[in-house]
Amino acid sequence: MIQFRNVNKHYGSFQVLKDINLTIEEGQVVVIIGPSGSGKSTLLRCMNRLETISDGELIVNGVALHDKKVDINKFRRNIGMVFQHFNLYPHKRVIDNIVLAPTKVLGVSKSEAAATAMTYLKRVGIEDKAQSYPSQLSGGQQQRVAIARGLAMKPQVMLFDEPTSALDPETIGEVLDVMRSLAHDGMTMVIVTHEMGFAREVADRVIFMDQGQILEDSTPAEFFAEPREERARTFLSRLI
Ligand code: ADP
Ligand code: MG
Repeated sequence: MIQFRNVNKHYGSFQVLKDINLTIEEGQVVVIIGPSGSGKSTLLRCMNRLETISDGELIVNGVALHDKKVDINKFRRNIGMVFQHFNLYPHKRVIDNIVLAPTKVLGVSKSEAAATAMTYLKRVGIEDKAQSYPSQLSGGQQQRVAIARGLAMKPQVMLFDEPTSALDPETIGEVLDVMRSLAHDGMTMVIVTHEMGFAREVADRVIFMDQGQILEDSTPAEFFAEPREERARTFLSRLI
């Protein structure tokens, strides 16, 4: 589903990604961890072409993103992304936030899109908030709307960039529960998170990044039992 081959990325003279080789299969749940500034968000954003790579090859869902001729809008329909700060439209009701892309981008009729939106709001457990505005919802509820909005495009892959980092502790669990349920349903997911309990329980693979490099790519059992890399050990010991 996702393949990086010898990918490098620079911001001016600063190299943010260094020789990334990474293959993610359909249905896998991959958690990316690492210190702040290590390149996790950049790696994720390359996967839906919010960032372009400097060199190497990157193929996502059968599309060669290093090829300058790709139809980005068509490509992005298949990749859902959930951000730390939800990025909902504040002046639109919950339901209208979800209906927008399917009607505008996919050309789905309003009534069909609304029915689909309700299905996904049920899926994330907040169908009773359909007519509310984002500001009337808790952070956890807003993030669940953002997930429902992503799902409504019926994506092949869902990307999550620290989806619970901006939430009050008591609402983190409800968002992780939704993500866990998506994982169990077989969704291909790439998740940047500091929630190690979630990583341990839900991930098929844990990837540890530092200074633009992938230093480890292991199962959670292996990684949490004994990371191979000193820098990963130091990172984990600081979290506890
Ligand atoms: P992480 O998500 O692991 O915290 P990022 O991918 O956001 O790391 O950033 C990695 C590094 O790249 C950081 O040093 C950051 O300052 C730098 N960086 C990120 N975006 C840009 C940008 N648009 N221009 C220049 N430097 C950037
Ligand atoms: Mg980040």
